[in-house]
Amino acid sequence: MSQYWSRLVHSLTPYVPGEQPKVDNLIKLNTNENPYPPSPQVLQAIAEQNNEKLRLYPDPNSDLLKQAIANYHGLNSTQVFVGNGSDEVLAHAFQALLKQDAPLLFPDITYSFYPVYCGLYGIEYNNVPLNAEFAIEVEDYQQKCGGIIFPNPNAPTGRLLPLSAIKQLLEMHPNRVVLVDEAYIDFGGESAICLVNEYPNLLVSQTLSKSRSLAGMRVGFAVGQAHLIDALERVKNSFNSYPIDRLALYGATASFADEEYFQDACQKIINTRETLTAAMTDMGFKVIPSAANFVFATHPQKSAEELALALRERKIIVRYFNKPRIDQYLRITIGTDAENQALINALKTLTANTT
Ligand code: PMP
Repeated sequence: MSQYWSRLVHSLTPYVPGEQPKVDNLIKLNTNENPYPPSPQVLQAIAEQNNEKLRLYPDPNSDLLKQAIANYHGLNSTQVFVGNGSDEVLAHAFQALLKQDAPLLFPDITYSFYPVYCGLYGIEYNNVPLNAEFAIEVEDYQQKCGGIIFPNPNAPTGRLLPLSAIKQLLEMHPNRVVLVDEAYIDFGGESAICLVNEYPNLLVSQTLSKSRSLAGMRVGFAVGQAHLIDALERVKNSFNSYPIDRLALYGATASFADEEYFQDACQKIINTRETLTAAMTDMGFKVIPSAANFVFATHPQKSAEELALALRERKIIVRYFNKPRIDQYLRITIGTDAENQALINALKTLTANTT
């Protein structure tokens, strides 16, 4: 290939998603999916979109879903933006709101899609180091910036930032957008959505991939005051007018109607997380306090890579990261109780006689 062609987009470093294995005899604890199926109401709503309806384009504004999300959170539907997974919502937010005349700030250990979007849209950024316990130090964000983004709870650490600290960030930079990425908020965290009407610079994104068991459907959303949502709509309508397909639109809407199922699934995951945290602590692991559907843990004697490979031989897949500061940590998604027990048994064998 000539140099001309190979140069085209070679400056981009794309995001590398976690492994999606092609076999299904594995205990899959590597990409933070929900181990329980979505609500039966979701499946029914999808089935109702029969052949006759699939022939037609979906509503480009996803009004039904926006209204369901607005009702759920006590907002107006003009305060809701919907996208093809929260990754796409974030992509539009980076382009519409976070490209400013100063660097964007985010933690040094965080969701690795953020620097990718910065590369894609030519946004300068500064990594702000987390403290020794992987917590965000709010005072470190007191610097000239084009905006702030962080997941809450953070990924891959699972640590939660309290609303009081989020308020401090919002007040520190009243003319910059603070984007709180709440992909994992439903597993015991307190959402910043309650602050949206008070702070014109707050945007909160969430996903249906984790707590609502719909990773395969690709639906995410953001809420904020109408001026922020309008900015996102302008970018979206300059890109793809139909981000949510018909099945996703009706399926996602139905998910918000089954509150009991949702609460029950979240509580089961929280309980299993606490069981896993206690068991791993007993085995000598340091487990970072998690408010997410995963735990982040390190063992004083066993390397993370070694443990991950040994678990894989036992058909359990977990995540480890080849990155400074966290290369000795495993990130383990919370599975069903049976999967959790299999994991605990395997880890007990692998760490026996080390403490
Ligand atoms: N934010 C964070 C912090 C995540 O970990 C993920 C999942 N990889 C996402 C956003 C994107 O989730 P989705 O596109 O499935 O909504």
